[in-house]
Amino acid sequence: MSKVFDSLVGQRDAVEVLRRAAAAAARVVTGEAGTGMTHAWIFTGPPGSGRSVAARAFAAALQCADQGCGECAACHTTLAGTHADVRFVVPEGLTIGVGEMRALVLRAAGAPTQGRWQVLLVEDADRLTEQAGNALLKAIEEPPPRTVFLLCTPSTHPDDISVTIRSRCRVVTLRQPPADAVASVLVQRDGTDPADAAWAAAAAQGHVGRARRLARDPQARARREKVLAVPRRLTGIGACFDAASALIEAAEAEAVATVSDVDARERSELETALGAGGTGKGAAAAARGVSAAVKELERRQRSRATRAQRDALDRALVDLAGFYRDVLARSFAAPVAPVHVDGAETAAQAAARWTPESALRRLEAVLACREAIELNVKPRIAVEAMMLSLWRG
Ligand SMILES: [Zn+2]
Repeated sequence: MSKVFDSLVGQRDAVEVLRRAAAAAARVVTGEAGTGMTHAWIFTGPPGSGRSVAARAFAAALQCADQGCGECAACHTTLAGTHADVRFVVPEGLTIGVGEMRALVLRAAGAPTQGRWQVLLVEDADRLTEQAGNALLKAIEEPPPRTVFLLCTPSTHPDDISVTIRSRCRVVTLRQPPADAVASVLVQRDGTDPADAAWAAAAAQGHVGRARRLARDPQARARREKVLAVPRRLTGIGACFDAASALIEAAEAEAVATVSDVDARERSELETALGAGGTGKGAAAAARGVSAAVKELERRQRSRATRAQRDALDRALVDLAGFYRDVLARSFAAPVAPVHVDGAETAAQAAARWTPESALRRLEAVLACREAIELNVKPRIAVEAMMLSLWRG
C-alpha cells in the first residue's frame, strides 16, 4: 500500500506527512469521524526535487481506495493525468491567466464523480497572475467539502506565492535529494550502469530529471561539456561575446528541440478540428474564427518557447556555477565531493591560478546572471555581462 510514494526520491519526511494525510482523507470518505483533512496544500522545494511528482502521488493516494496502491485504475489514471476528478493546470507559457483559473475553480467545486475527491493540481503556481491567484484564493478560503487544492511552487517566498494563499495552505517541503539516492533510482528504475548513474547524479546536482537525461541522452551530455568549456575559452573581450552568443544559441537550440514536436502536433490537431477550407455561406465568418484560433495557438506556443529557452539557459548557468563552486572547494581543500567529477582537473588548474576571492567573484557573477534573467533582464545582456566578469575575475 502507498506504493505511489515510492517515486519520491530521498523525501522520507514529506512522504510520512502525505501518507498520514491520505489516511485521514480516507476516513473522511468512509464517513468515520475524522478531522485532520487539509483542503489546500503547497508543495515546495528546489527544481528537480519532485514537487509535481509528490503532488501527483498525493492526488493518486486521495483517489485510491487503498491510499495509493499504485496499481488500481484510480492510481493509474491520476498519475497519467486522465482521472475525471483530477484536473492539472500546467502552464506552458510564462503565466496562468485569470480566465483559465476561474473555469478550473468552477469545475473543481462540483461533487466528485467517483465519490472521493475533486483535486485541482496547479504546477508552477508561482506563475499565476495576480488576478488568477485571487480567483484561486476565493476557492481556497471556502473549499467545497470534497475539493482539494494542490499547488506546486519553488518556494513560499511572497514573490512565488501570495502571503494570503500561503496562510491558507499546509506546506510540504521537499529537499534536494542526495546524489546517492538519485543514483540508486537511475540504477533500479532505468537499469543505468552504476558508475554512469553515480556520475549523472553528481553532475545533475540533485535534479532527478536532469540526471536521467544526462544518463540517457548523448546530446544533453554534449551540451553540458560545451558549457563547462566556457571558463577555458574566456581569453579576451571578443571571446567573452562569442561565448555569450554560443551559450544563448545552445539554449535556443535546446528549447526548439523540446517544443517543436508539440508545436507541430498542436497545429495539425487544430487544423483538423477546424476543418480546412470551405466555401459558401458562413465560410467567411468561419475563416475569421479559424484565424483567431490559430493566432491564439501561436501566442501560446511563443510563450512556451520563451519559457523553454529560459529553462535551458538556467540549467546551463547552474552547471557553470557548479564549476566555480568546485574551484573554490579545491582552493580550500574542502572535504566535499565535486559537482563535476569529470571537470576536477580543470577546476584544480583554475584553483592554482586564481585567488579564492576571484573564484568567489566568478561564482557570484553566475548567480547574479541567473537572478537578472529571473528579473526580466534580456538574457543576452545578462550573459554578456557575466562572461566579462568571468574573464576579469
Ligand atoms: Zn490505487
